[in-house]
Order: sequence, then C-alpha cells, then structure tokens
Amino acid sequence: MKITETVHQVEGVTGAPAIIVGLDYLSLVDTGTPGAEAQIFALVESLGRKRQDIKHILMTHSDGDHAGALAEVAAATGARVYAGQHEADVIGGKRPLRSGKMIATPAQVDVIVKDDDVLPLHGGIRVVETFGHTPGHIAFYLLSEKLLFTGDCLTNTQGLTGSLPQFTADPAQATATVHKLAALNPESLAFGHGPAIIGGADTHLRALAKATPRAPA
Ligand SMILES: [Zn+2]
Repeated sequence: MKITETVHQVEGVTGAPAIIVGLDYLSLVDTGTPGAEAQIFALVESLGRKRQDIKHILMTHSDGDHAGALAEVAAATGARVYAGQHEADVIGGKRPLRSGKMIATPAQVDVIVKDDDVLPLHGGIRVVETFGHTPGHIAFYLLSEKLLFTGDCLTNTQGLTGSLPQFTADPAQATATVHKLAALNPESLAFGHGPAIIGGADTHLRALAKATPRAPA
C-alpha cells in the first residue's frame, strides 16, 4: 500500500515492512515475520522493480516480526543491512532476545548505526535511538518526507501509544523515547503495527507526550 509519494508498506505482513523507492534503488525498513520475503518481493515487482534493486535493509530492532525474514531477504538481494549495535548482536545470535531466547535464524548486520547518524539514502535518513521496546531499538527519519519509521517504539493499533507495556524491555526508556520523538516534530509516522499517520503527526505526538509522565530520575 502506497502511504506517501515514495513509501509503500507491505500489506498483510505483521511488523509492516516498508519500501522506500529511489530512482535506481530501493530500501527496505524491517522484514516482517519468517516467510514475508514472498510478499515483500511481490510488492517490489508490482512497482516494476526487481528484488535485487533492494540495496539497503534498515532494521529497527531484532524481534521476530521485524527480523523474521531478514536472512532470506538479505541472501536473495545482497543488500547491506543496518542496525544499532545491541540489535545487531541479537540479530547475529550473540545476545538473547528480550524473551531470553536466541534468535531462530541469525543474520549478519553490515553497518552499525547510532543516534543522529544521517544515512546518505533517499536524500537523507536520520537514525533516532528509541530505546525501551528493546535495548537497542532505533527509528529511521526520512528527511525529505518528514516521515518517521517508528518500528515498535510507537504503535497505532488502538490509537497512538508508546511501546506496548507487555513488549517493553525498559519502561523508563520507552517513556523517554516518547518525549524525544515529540521534540523531533515528524509530520508523518509509519508504524510496525497500526495504520500510518500521514500529516499532522506532530500534534498527536505532543498530546501523547503530555499524557505520558516521565519516569522519576
Ligand atoms: Zn513488532
């Protein structure tokens, strides 16, 4: 489903992988659940592109509904994989998931990114560390569209909320993340779960931050 001029989300896949369309390459944000490569590649072909046009895979975090198809997609495309250090360790099978288990299908991360890095892709994509949901969760801010790919640090399944408490590694960090994102003033939000908010997202986020008291230091 097309959500903006250059961004399409893969429908019917938990974790909602998204494709950013460039003139001569594509980037994929998250990969969905195991097996989701079929729907991802079908969307790519519906855009008149080839799966090998996916040159970059941006990972928000290591949960199975986001990294589930990573190994398959990376192998089929040869794309470079980007993640924060902690999540890269989990994805690589060197540290446990939030659940304490090891990842089922490890994959290699090629590029370790950190807060405020600006990737030279699609006119600039800023890395925003958004810890809490997982210890190394990051979001990606597509500067040209003022669109934030939130992963699961925000969700929109029952209205806009922060990381769902039952899936949160560190509640105080998750709360700080909501305030950090409100200060970022994104115009639009694409979630791992729930419909995207296109335009006016800053107003919604400020209201959420107001309703989300910071944890005492
Ligand atoms: Zn998720």
